[in-house]
Amino acid sequence: MQCSLCGEKVGRDEVGLTKKLINRGTQEYLCLACLSRRFRVSPEKLLEMADAFRAAGCTLFM
Ligand SMILES: [Zn+2]
Repeated sequence: MQCSLCGEKVGRDEVGLTKKLINRGTQEYLCLACLSRRFRVSPEKLLEMADAFRAAGCTLFM
């Protein structure tokens, strides 16, 4: 999968975060850098959020 904005490769956490932050049915995924820019959240914070969602048992991050 690729970032719909910059074409970077998108991993599992980015896919999960995109679904969580934008919407579950999205067909477009954003890489960490683009998510960070769009939501004004640092990449470190985004990864923390992914960890927190995973720890909470969110199936988007399994
Ligand atoms: Zn991107």
